[in-house]
Amino acid sequence: MGKVHVFNAGPCILPQVAIDNAIAALKDFKGTGVPVICMSHRSKEWQAVMDECISLWREILNIPDTHEILFLGGGASLQFLYVAMNFLEHKAAYLETGVWAKKALKEAKGIGEAYAIASSADKNYSYIPKGFEIHEDIDYLHITTNNTIYGTEIKKDPDVNVRLIADMSSDIMTRPIDFSKYDLVYGGAQKNVGPAGVAFAIVRKEALGKTSRYIPTMLDYRTHVEKGSMFNTPPVFSIFVMNETLKWVKSIGGIKKIQERNAAKAELLYNEIDRNSLFVGTAAKEDRSIMNVCFVMAPGKEDLQDEFMAFSKEHGIMGIKGHRSVGGFRASIYNACELEDVQALVDCMKEFESLKK
Ligand SMILES: *Cc1c(COP(=O)(O)O)cnc(C)c1O
Repeated sequence: MGKVHVFNAGPCILPQVAIDNAIAALKDFKGTGVPVICMSHRSKEWQAVMDECISLWREILNIPDTHEILFLGGGASLQFLYVAMNFLEHKAAYLETGVWAKKALKEAKGIGEAYAIASSADKNYSYIPKGFEIHEDIDYLHITTNNTIYGTEIKKDPDVNVRLIADMSSDIMTRPIDFSKYDLVYGGAQKNVGPAGVAFAIVRKEALGKTSRYIPTMLDYRTHVEKGSMFNTPPVFSIFVMNETLKWVKSIGGIKKIQERNAAKAELLYNEIDRNSLFVGTAAKEDRSIMNVCFVMAPGKEDLQDEFMAFSKEHGIMGIKGHRSVGGFRASIYNACELEDVQALVDCMKEFESLKK
């Protein structure tokens, strides 16, 4: 078989150099003769990896000193609970833009009063609600900047008059972020910055400790701030690979370069979806995600779906089956995906169209 082009929604593909360096470190971590996964997390060699990783996050995303960068277990799904535990006192508002946003809201409802301030459920989450009113009496507004399943994205940091918290699982490291607007940005690493097993939380220190409830030790952000994410054993291997991934981001030119690459990939694919008579996009054009591109067969062509799936597979295209709640196809074109991978998919769509004419 020729080259395989992987479009999995998560865990995502990672830069080859990060994978190669991970393999080498599994054999011998920094010349210690010890595999990285057998190294003490209290060793100075490991501390150097933690320090490098945090400084790369700061440097690449220009994260100010007001915010602490934490690496935690439990994925983004456990962060849903952290958010409510650490920030919900009276009432919290959630922008309901998809399944993940709903799950975040559900966790908050288990802790206190929380509600959906606006929702796009009426059109199967194919757009981002706009123009809703935000009352100042809420503790925070929670948004999901990229809706991995539906392929919609909030591409600009919103201006709001309340604390802002964002799940950025699937579009972190794709654009500059104005952290002064957020009290917390979190996500699972496995969509764009590393393998599964570690979540990131970038939290404004001054915003912590404002709720009156008892917070279990492990769910209290302050525990992890105080201990530099090493209150307990951190997911060392996941963090190691994340660090290698960030080194790659820096080496190719940082966030500006990443942004250019991603814009070119998304444009190439959306242009083909709009041009090709066999396919249509599912997300509202102005809200289209640059990371997860969702499309279905055009009306009247639905019976070609399985055939295209098989045809694309023969051409080395992997992981484009759409999520069951949208159907059709979803190509996740995360940072490590190359323009040539997207070109291979586009060529495949073109060829399939010409076969069906
Ligand atoms: C994948 C995803 C999650 C869940 O992440 P886990 O680390 O698997 O818990 C949450 N939010 C968004 C936007 C996601 O894409």
